[in-house]
Amino acid sequence: MTPSAASAAPAPKEVDCTQVKCLALTFDDGPGQYADKLLDTLKKYDAKATFFLEGQYVKSRPAFAKRMAVEGHELGNHSYKHLNFTKLEPGAIRNEIQKTQDIIKQVTGVEPKLLRPPYGMADLQVSDIAAEFGMPMILWTGGSRDWESRNEAAIKKQTLAVAKQDGIILMHDWVKQTVDSMPALLKTLQGKGYHFVTVSEVIKSQNLEPGDIFPVPEGWEK
Ligand SMILES: [Zn+2]
Repeated sequence: MTPSAASAAPAPKEVDCTQVKCLALTFDDGPGQYADKLLDTLKKYDAKATFFLEGQYVKSRPAFAKRMAVEGHELGNHSYKHLNFTKLEPGAIRNEIQKTQDIIKQVTGVEPKLLRPPYGMADLQVSDIAAEFGMPMILWTGGSRDWESRNEAAIKKQTLAVAKQDGIILMHDWVKQTVDSMPALLKTLQGKGYHFVTVSEVIKSQNLEPGDIFPVPEGWEK
């Protein structure tokens, strides 16, 4: 880009979630096989998302992980092999988290700051270990139930039903129908005034500490 073109370009848009309606779309278990198409759509609609990645797939699809980082999406840690942390010994949990931090850093240069435990399953031991890694645990305020329905119309309907200001929506980039439904979904939600931002943006006002869980699930005691 020439200097004159640079000065003519509009300044990058900053989204302030205290001023506008924000929503965080999160895609788990990837990079999934349809991530490339999803990234094209997100770019087209100027939407940022958060990808909770599995280390094993960062290893097998490094180009997708790299593209996510380069295009300004947030990368979170979703374990290496998607084992239920509440059924693992502490050493095995640490290993799952560390290996995933390492491969994401190695492939993208980014160090994830958020942990989403597989299946959203956590207990006080998992919380303590997340704290050791300096990460809060992020669940979701609403699910698209995409893995269950595998149906575009159902995914759209369910996502619109659970979308709310500062919400965190659970989706998957390995579900083809999710990726196919995304252009219409983004358009509809933008029409309702939503701005698509990373999880770190929507949780800013929560001031979460490492080891905290958000949103706090029913029955969680600390
Ligand atoms: Zn998962």
